[in-house]
Amino acid sequence: ERLQGMTNQDVKQLDRAHVFHSWSTQGTLNPLAIKSGEGCRLWDFDGREYLDFSSQLVNTNIGHQHPKVIAAIQAQAAELATVAPAHANATRSLAAEKVLAHAPKGFEKVFFTNAGADANENAIRMARAYTGRDKVLSAYRSYHGNTGSAIVATGDFRRVPNEYSRGHVHFFNPYFYRTEFWSADEAEECQRALHHLRRVIESEGPASIAAILLETIPGTAGVLVPPKDYLKGVRALADEFGIVLILDEVMAGFGRTGQWLALDDFDVIPDLVTFAKGVNSGYVPAGGVMISEALNRYFDDHFFYGGLTYSGHPLAMAAICATLDVMAEEQIVENAARIGQEVLTPGLQRLAQQHEVIGEVRGLGVFHAIELVEDRQSRQPLSDAAMGQIKQHMLDAGVLPFVANNRIHVVPPCIVSAEEAQQGLAVIDEALSALKR
Ligand code: PLP
Repeated sequence: ERLQGMTNQDVKQLDRAHVFHSWSTQGTLNPLAIKSGEGCRLWDFDGREYLDFSSQLVNTNIGHQHPKVIAAIQAQAAELATVAPAHANATRSLAAEKVLAHAPKGFEKVFFTNAGADANENAIRMARAYTGRDKVLSAYRSYHGNTGSAIVATGDFRRVPNEYSRGHVHFFNPYFYRTEFWSADEAEECQRALHHLRRVIESEGPASIAAILLETIPGTAGVLVPPKDYLKGVRALADEFGIVLILDEVMAGFGRTGQWLALDDFDVIPDLVTFAKGVNSGYVPAGGVMISEALNRYFDDHFFYGGLTYSGHPLAMAAICATLDVMAEEQIVENAARIGQEVLTPGLQRLAQQHEVIGEVRGLGVFHAIELVEDRQSRQPLSDAAMGQIKQHMLDAGVLPFVANNRIHVVPPCIVSAEEAQQGLAVIDEALSALKR
């Protein structure tokens, strides 16, 4: 009842009084109030509409409030709203089967978690148990989640204040626009990044390294699509040194790139795949680890020291089953690929020709980034003040953007129509034209 008639101002006041927010200084926050959504649209408490060009945290791949998924969650809630992970439950088993239908060949089982961070946490634990080794190698340009090992495996600035656990080593992943290797082209970037990784492995002592953990396409770090052969090269290094390869598909997986999994574009088969977000568009929190044959065999007769009260929670599982069905029936992955090829890639290239402030555009499917720079020569990242102007301009024009450092991540839901994608690009165009520096 108290919710009736609440305005944006009321909701924000209540939030600021009692809600402690992620990754922020609490005293300076001014959150956007959001009341409801449908498809790619959101509404605030004053009835104002937004086109969601963020997919929230790049997770609502099927858009907001898909009626079949909402109905499946409601039906499951009516039958059994929760169950212990040790019991066999049909919805959970079906969800695992449906997830594995999109895994590389040889993947047999899924360990369900609450989200992406604990998916990585448990994948790391499996790799450590399997190899009897301790160290995890991961990239500086990465985000793997907010729990113990996942945040220390993360490369970005959020790792450093949380770095209490040992056994993590970082390396530079390829990023040709800002090459660490003085590369002349993508092929050289690939070769040199692989040489660097080999030297890190050799210098750390291969017999101490349990896993290499990599986002197939680093997302939060800037949608860094790797050179074509990089992941294949990492796989070869992992094989050579007996290291478990974990690909983190939490953001890139389940449709975002125009493939069911981002790894489908890279001719690579990892040992473990972690997922969350798009698997059920976040309607109920869920994540998991897909486990390949060799690790499955190992755990057939070795105890797995890991578990969660809500592993395979029935509401999350019902949401997974319905989401994956809907994605196939409505060809949502194909839509993401088509929108990427026909609208976003050419549209962003056009913007790059028109606006000097764009240093680079990159991406695929509905997973793109625009990198903004003070000038193209120095490639110095555009200032926070200018990025703030761009974000505000887009919000004022009714488009909710995903802004990270000096980048706009162009990440609408996978169901986005060509018209909606064009609308978002037009607002980015206006925001860049209006930029005062
Ligand atoms: N891995 C990647 C690649 C992510 O992008 C994220 C979240 O953004 C995570 C892991 C952590 O997922 P969660 O926030 O669901 O724990």
